[in-house]
Amino acid sequence: MNAALPVAVLKQHLIDPEICIRCNTCEETCPIDAITHDSNNYVVDPDICNGCMACVPPCPTGSIDNWRLVARSDAYSVQEQLGWDELPREQPLPDALAAVEPAADAAIDPAPAAQASVTPGASVPPWSAAHPYVNLYTHKTPVTATVVGNYRVTGADTDSDIHHIVLDFGELPFPVLEGQSIGILPPGTDAQGRPHHARQYSLASPRDGERAGYNNLSLTVKRVIEDHQGQPVSGVCSNYLCDLARNDTVQVIGPFGHTFLMPNHPGANLIMICTGTGSAPMRAMTERYRRRIETGENGRLMLFFGARTERELPYFGPLMKLPRDFIDINLALSREAGQPKRYVQDLIRERAADVRGLLADRNTCIYVCGLKGMEVGVLDALRDVTVQAGQDWTILHDVLRREGRLHFETY
Ligand SMILES: Cc1cc2nc3c(=O)[nH]c(=O)nc-3n(C[C@H](O)[C@H](O)[C@H](O)COP(=O)(O)OP(=O)(O)OC[C@H]3O[C@@H](n4cnc5c(N)ncnc54)[C@H](O)[C@@H]3O)c2cc1C
Ligand code: SF4
Ligand code: SF4
Repeated sequence: MNAALPVAVLKQHLIDPEICIRCNTCEETCPIDAITHDSNNYVVDPDICNGCMACVPPCPTGSIDNWRLVARSDAYSVQEQLGWDELPREQPLPDALAAVEPAADAAIDPAPAAQASVTPGASVPPWSAAHPYVNLYTHKTPVTATVVGNYRVTGADTDSDIHHIVLDFGELPFPVLEGQSIGILPPGTDAQGRPHHARQYSLASPRDGERAGYNNLSLTVKRVIEDHQGQPVSGVCSNYLCDLARNDTVQVIGPFGHTFLMPNHPGANLIMICTGTGSAPMRAMTERYRRRIETGENGRLMLFFGARTERELPYFGPLMKLPRDFIDINLALSREAGQPKRYVQDLIRERAADVRGLLADRNTCIYVCGLKGMEVGVLDALRDVTVQAGQDWTILHDVLRREGRLHFETY
C-alpha cells in the first residue's frame, strides 16, 4: 500500500524498541516476511513492507504501530533499526517533498483480507470485554514485585516441573484482566553482553487478584530444560522464576494483550481449550466465574485440557474439586498407562453435539492456549463438528473471528 504514496515519500513502518517485548508474534504474522530480528531488536524492512497492517492487531504491546514520513531515499535501513535503543524523533521532510501531500491514510488502512488469511483467531476482543490497560510499565520503567508464593503444581515424580508463582505489587497499581500477560525481566545479560529481553507469562489469576482484594497476581511457569527439539537447555527466565524464593523481588513490565480477553456480559459461555501452561488464562477465567457463582450471571463453562498424564496436568487436584454443574471438564491424556492416547481435538469431536450447541450461541467465546502445534488440530476439530451438522465452517469461522469470539494464544 505504500506504493500508493508519492514516489519520493514513504510512510515507514517502525517498531518501538523500548516497548517491544520480542515475542515474535509480528514476524510469524507478516504474510510477506517483512519483519526480521536479531538478539537486540525486531525491525521492519522498508523494501518489503506493503503496509497491509496484518501485524498490528496481534502485537500485544502496540509497539509495532509506529510510522514515520521519510524521504524514500532516506528510509531507515534494517541495519540502522537493529542498532536502535529508541525510536528516532519524527524529522521534517526535505522542503522539496514537504509540499507534496502524501496519501497517508491509504498507507495505513487495514487490509482485512490480508489479516484473515494469516490469523486463525480474532484480532478484536469480545464486544463486552472490559477495557484493558497495556504497557503501564516498560523496559525503562519496570515495576518491582515481591514473590509471596512459589510452589510446584505438577507431580514431583514427573519431568514436567510447572510452578504456581504469586507476585505482590504492594502499593503500586498493576491493573490486569484475565487473558492478559506480563513481562518478566530476568537479571543478567545474554551472550552479547546485553540485558536479557523480557519473557511473557499469562496471568493465572483473575482481575481482583490471586487473593481477592489483594494487589497480587499469579503465573503458571514451566521450567524449560529442553528446547523444542528435545535438546537439553536451561531456559533463562523460566529457571530464574521457578527458583525464586518468598520475598525475592522481580522486575515486571506490562500488562500486555488487548484481544484475548473474556466477555463481561451476563450469560456469556466459555469454551476453553488448553495444554500445559496454556491452562493459566483458563484458570484466571474460571476463577473469575467461580467467585461470582452466587450472582447467577454465569453462562456455561466447558474445558478441554490436554496433558500427557494426570500428574503432569497443572492444578489437577483443585480443578477436579470444582462442581460438575459449574464447569464441564474434559481431560485428554496422551500417555496415561493403560488408557488410549487422547488429545484435546479427539474430545472436541466426542462432545460434538454440546460444542455445536455452544458455537451456535452468540454468547459463546472460545479460547485456545498452549503449544503452537495445537492450533491446526483444534481448528480441524471445530470444522469437523460444524460440517457434520451440515453447516458451513468457513462462514462460522469468519463470524467467530469478526465478533471477537475465537482467540488463540500459542507459544
Ligand atoms: C503470549 C505468551 C504467553 C506465555 N505464557 C506462558 C506461561 O503462562 N507459562 C510459561 O511457562 N511460558 C509462557 N510463555 C513462554 C515464555 O514466554 C518463555 O518463552 C518460556 O518460559 C521460555 O523462556 P526461557 O527464558 O526459560 O527460555 P529461553 O532461554 O528463552 O529459551 C531456551 C530454549 O528453549 C526453547 N524454548 C522456549 N520456550 C520453550 C517452551 N515453552 N518449551 C520448550 N522449549 C522452549 C527456546 O526455543 C530456546 O531454544 C508465553 C509466551 C508467550 C508469547
Ligand atoms: S511486541 Fe509487537 S513488535 Fe515486538 S515482537 Fe511482539 S508483536 Fe512484534
Ligand atoms: S504491515 Fe504488513 S507487510 Fe508490513 S510488516 Fe506488518 S504484516 Fe508485514
